[in-house]
Amino acid sequence: MTRKLIAGNWKMNGSLADNEALLRAVLAGLPAAPAADVAVCVPAPYLAQVQALCQGTALAWGAQDVSAHERGAYTGEVSAAMLRDFGCRYVIVGHSERRQYHGESDEAVAAKAQRALAAGITPIVCVGETEAQRDAGQTEAVVKRQLAAVIHTVGHCVSEIVVAYEPVWAIGTGKTATPEQAQAVHAVLRAQIKAATPQAARVKLLYGGSMNPANAAALLAQPDIDGGLIGGASLKAEEFLRIVRAAV
Ligand code: PEP
Repeated sequence: MTRKLIAGNWKMNGSLADNEALLRAVLAGLPAAPAADVAVCVPAPYLAQVQALCQGTALAWGAQDVSAHERGAYTGEVSAAMLRDFGCRYVIVGHSERRQYHGESDEAVAAKAQRALAAGITPIVCVGETEAQRDAGQTEAVVKRQLAAVIHTVGHCVSEIVVAYEPVWAIGTGKTATPEQAQAVHAVLRAQIKAATPQAARVKLLYGGSMNPANAAALLAQPDIDGGLIGGASLKAEEFLRIVRAAV
């Protein structure tokens, strides 16, 4: 069975003081060898702090975005090599908030995933449909198109990515996909990855969208759900830890 991954997405939240309190509480509650992989994806300015607090622990860390460019005149961007300098194991790419508010195309997301892979960082590639797309029966086509762009760009390296299915209508809304709804989409994504690589079993498929301690176990029990990408609940140590404990 695939080892599960529970990854927190802090989004644009935190401060030096709040991060320290949150991380110390999470670290205190994590067993030395958790049953699942556990990570937090934090705002870039805090990577050094998180690295200092989490180095040598069971808690990995990552960033929430990366530049599609290697280096140079891209003011405000952060490169994959810079993330590697701070020990990032993961970087989220193509979160719906970036697709929506920053106009990130499928191709830009794919280029970011490729930059991460080239730097030895695992991209957590987010895909997901809006409510209007779901209502129009387009869920499958949308997520397949988003993932296909990444497969097209990274080729056989697709075996090294993590995919997060995050229905846009479930993010930060308290509306969670039912385990059956999520599993149905995960099965589609699994089949797409199987068709792209003989190493498909290596690829973890996370669910994200209002996952919390009350719904995590049922979602994580689905055959094709290999973990969770956790927004709001990752900012509360006890909630995050309860989700980690549900991932067995
Ligand atoms: C997210 O932003 O990746 C997310 C899943 O958020 P939330 O858990 O708050 O819905």
